[in-house]
Amino acid sequence: MSYVDEVYGKVVAQNPAQPEFHQAVKEVLESLRPAIESNEGKYRREALLERLTTPDRLIQFRVSWVDDQGNIQVNNAYRVQFNNAIGPYKGGIRLHPSVNQSVIKFLGFEQIFKNSLTGLPIGGGKGGSDFDPKGKSDREIMAFCQSFMTELYKYIGADVDVPAGDIGVGAREIGYFYGQYKRIRGLYEGVLTGKGLSYGGSLARKEATGYGLLYLTEELMKCNGHQLAGKTVAVSGAGNVAIYAIQKAWQLGAKPVTCSDSTGWIYDPEGIDVALLREVKEVRRARLTEYAAARPSAVYTEGKGVWSIKCDVALPCATQNELLLEDAKLLVANGCTAVCEGANMPTTLEATEYLQNNGVLFCPGKAANAGGVATSALEMSQNSERLSWSFEEVDAKLKGIMVNIFHNVDAAAREYGAEGNYVVGANIAGFLKVADAMTAQGAY
Ligand code: NDP
Repeated sequence: MSYVDEVYGKVVAQNPAQPEFHQAVKEVLESLRPAIESNEGKYRREALLERLTTPDRLIQFRVSWVDDQGNIQVNNAYRVQFNNAIGPYKGGIRLHPSVNQSVIKFLGFEQIFKNSLTGLPIGGGKGGSDFDPKGKSDREIMAFCQSFMTELYKYIGADVDVPAGDIGVGAREIGYFYGQYKRIRGLYEGVLTGKGLSYGGSLARKEATGYGLLYLTEELMKCNGHQLAGKTVAVSGAGNVAIYAIQKAWQLGAKPVTCSDSTGWIYDPEGIDVALLREVKEVRRARLTEYAAARPSAVYTEGKGVWSIKCDVALPCATQNELLLEDAKLLVANGCTAVCEGANMPTTLEATEYLQNNGVLFCPGKAANAGGVATSALEMSQNSERLSWSFEEVDAKLKGIMVNIFHNVDAAAREYGAEGNYVVGANIAGFLKVADAMTAQGAY
């Protein structure tokens, strides 16, 4: 049996009932085949794939907090420190009822390759809790965040593990986490990224994932003989990634016409009004029905449906497994040219294969959405040198990083005989650097 198949079998056997984690490992290992098989004896001796697919550690803890009625509530929380071969663990914290060990491990595993692709010295980690921030008061959010950090602080540090935001964690939550860390440790250090500008945050971090996604999409299209300007773009999600993807799409001359949240979606043939979307989502924290109510050109529909709209470029920016095979078929039938993932693993394996087999340019999240973590690493650099860079400086670095990522991914795909397959290219390019560092650092 090949080494790849053997290790995938072990992962499934040793991590039962963790479908998201299995899916992520399968996708990565499958695409690493050409790189592994050309060096199989060495990697086998070093148990490299077993080490890569087994987290350094997974911390699970209880978060107890007091709600507004005076009752104690209890949530499960996790931090996976997956691999620190090339730098301190780095990855976001997700607060969503769907969070469990499988989801956190899939995200932490993917993060290893994404972080490596940025070219910056950051390892892979991820954390989160099944706490649902929806409908909670500010005081309840603060109570949860303080309790969460009261346990997590033991395991993190500016040179150890540097968490950031993810679904359900924005500037407000990072502020509460940071305040509690500082209070317990007495340390003013860059232990979190995505911080507010008044206490060590980086300009352009908020915009970075969405902007980076568009920089990479533009480069991908250009290198394949297309132009982004003038194209119609379908976006899912209405959170941090989606909002700034929509904003940058406009700035690059494209027209974003959709967005969605967990209850419904908007089709706005005039193009999404970013200022209104930000007001509804960032300020009022309201549903998209309020966007539709304020915008005569917009149509709101309950449930899913973004991928049924005719578009040239599709950018899934909400959550995992939101673009299914039937959605991929609709996109192909409607003449879509490119799909770039703003979210982590939003496209199922079958949908990805269908898109690739039907000539759609497909760029996986670990490359396409790496602008967020790359800018987090730039925030770490600014914290270390106790300086702040201008918006333009950070944005220019971000653009350079995204263009570079695309070319590294493209080159790795070509080198291993998979020209145009950016899933293979991203995984191999991310893997080689980590594998090299693990080999150099010996058995551990
Ligand atoms: P937000 O919480 O800001 O927004 C998430 C959006 O997706 C919301 O519109 C939310 O709707 C929707 N959504 C969440 N879960 C579901 C679901 N199960 N079904 C349908 N819609 C859902 O998160 P982000 O924008 O930060 O993150 C989006 C994705 O991008 C995630 O996969 C994240 O891991 C990834 N990512 C984020 C980065 C960042 O810098 N923020 C960096 C790299 C990747 P509702 O408002 O109704 O909950």
